[in-house]
Amino acid sequence: MRCVALVELRDVEKFYGDLHALKSVTLTLEAGRIGLLGPNGAGKSTFLKSLLGLVIPTSGTVKVFDLEVARNPFEVRARVGYMPEGDHVMPELTALEYASFAAKLCGLPDKEAVGRAHLVLQYVGLGEARYRKLGSYSTGMRQRARLAQALVGDPKLLLLDEPTSGLDPRGRDEMLALIHDIPTRTGASVILSTHILPDVEKTCDQVIVLAGGQALYAGALAPLIRPEEGIFEVRTKGDPARLRTALELSQCIVTMQGTTLEVRVPHNGGAAHVVRVAVEAGCQLRHLAPLQHTLERAFFETLEKAASPTPA
Ligand code: ADP
Ligand code: MG
Repeated sequence: MRCVALVELRDVEKFYGDLHALKSVTLTLEAGRIGLLGPNGAGKSTFLKSLLGLVIPTSGTVKVFDLEVARNPFEVRARVGYMPEGDHVMPELTALEYASFAAKLCGLPDKEAVGRAHLVLQYVGLGEARYRKLGSYSTGMRQRARLAQALVGDPKLLLLDEPTSGLDPRGRDEMLALIHDIPTRTGASVILSTHILPDVEKTCDQVIVLAGGQALYAGALAPLIRPEEGIFEVRTKGDPARLRTALELSQCIVTMQGTTLEVRVPHNGGAAHVVRVAVEAGCQLRHLAPLQHTLERAFFETLEKAASPTPA
């Protein structure tokens, strides 16, 4: 039996006049928590809108749940919740009216819509504030209300366009915790668009790296951030320069980040090599661990690779 992909794009191009916003994007995503990562202007919002049929690609095909969006926009939208970027709400409505309205737009009968609205507002932490007008809400509360309207139709896929923008660190952490919980709680998949790398690192298991309209990477997050074999992070009690010199004399390649040494050990010598050199040089080690790739590092390496010409 063929496993249906969550999202599949083939050779998708989008031009706004002369502006080339999506460049031959071809990728497949599985169900799960997906980070859509890229700087401002990368094409993230255009990408999300193309999944909903709100932006029509100039060429190429977009499928969501194996449905071609161009042919079945309403069937797709019935299964997808969308939180657009920005923090616009209808200020005169209470959160309950707003979420109920969104539920009715999803086709729920009045009574059921209000019932669902109560439930999702409780879930996003607005249970007590649900009878207050949105105009009196803080940014964090508005973003939660907007998340509630995206969730109220019980979507199978949730598209969140920069949902943490404008939030303070605590509000951001709370929003990310909710986003992480949604797939566990509801079984829905989430695509989280952001330019904040740690948000993706904390929340997602797949990532798309978009830059200048090109998808430079799409797939599992783990291979991007796994520990590097043969590279160690080393700190010493004394002068790091002394240990650095000793390691370089033993064929290691060393770079210094503050007082931390990043040591590439030759010939699979492993941590034992670093320990031996340190002992011989009379340097006491404080920290020795395989270098963990951060998403930030992987992100910039991906951008660099894309910028450098491919060897002939
Ligand atoms: P991101 O969400 O990553 O910031 P966008 O998808 O909003 O990127 O935009 C990608 C590029 O397309 C940007 O250069 C932006 O100015 C341009 N763009 C987006 N929407 C439109 C539009 N409706 N008309 C013209 N240009 C647009
Ligand atoms: Mg955007």
